[in-house]
Amino acid sequence: MIPTVRKVACSLGLKYYFTGKPCKFGHVEKRITSSGVCVACSKWSTRKIRLIKEGKWETYQQATKERFHRTGQKEKIKDYKKSARQDPIKGPIIRAKERAYVRANPLKYLFAVARKRARKRGLDFTITIDDLSIPFHCPIFGVKIGPVGSKHAPSIDRINNSFGYVPGNVKVISRVANRWKSDLDKEHAKRFLIYFENGAYR
Ligand SMILES: [Zn+2]
Repeated sequence: MIPTVRKVACSLGLKYYFTGKPCKFGHVEKRITSSGVCVACSKWSTRKIRLIKEGKWETYQQATKERFHRTGQKEKIKDYKKSARQDPIKGPIIRAKERAYVRANPLKYLFAVARKRARKRGLDFTITIDDLSIPFHCPIFGVKIGPVGSKHAPSIDRINNSFGYVPGNVKVISRVANRWKSDLDKEHAKRFLIYFENGAYR
């Protein structure tokens, strides 16, 4: 029987104890008595040290983004953030910070939103943030691109809608232009123009 308390394990001279609670990385595993570290974390750090020694760490980190190690924690962070956002005191502060971040980093925001949308809709997403740049004026309407959230906010257009977010198929245009582009097909746009010019729909 493995004790649930570290002190007990220590006094019995046992190598492990088991609390049944997840570690801070979300592993529900035995803990090592001498360090209090969970077995999965311990294995992981041994591996990490080896990778660093072999000079493979950076490649590895980039390839997997530590995903498997963080999976457990990711959900916890998500839950925490969700509850903090609903908190009457913390909520408004968090939202204000988020707004400030988005204003300061519109490109990062656009990129993240597009990636989320692509995942949801099963679209290809192979662009990097370097494939995007926010022009001063909307290439379609010529209006000055405004901040995120405004009428002429920047928005990522997929030039050819049958392709996903792939290099060469993305362009930042104004939100209004993007809305019009997705709502109107060529024929409807022509008819709209006729209506506009003649003041009568034919
Ligand atoms: Zn762990």
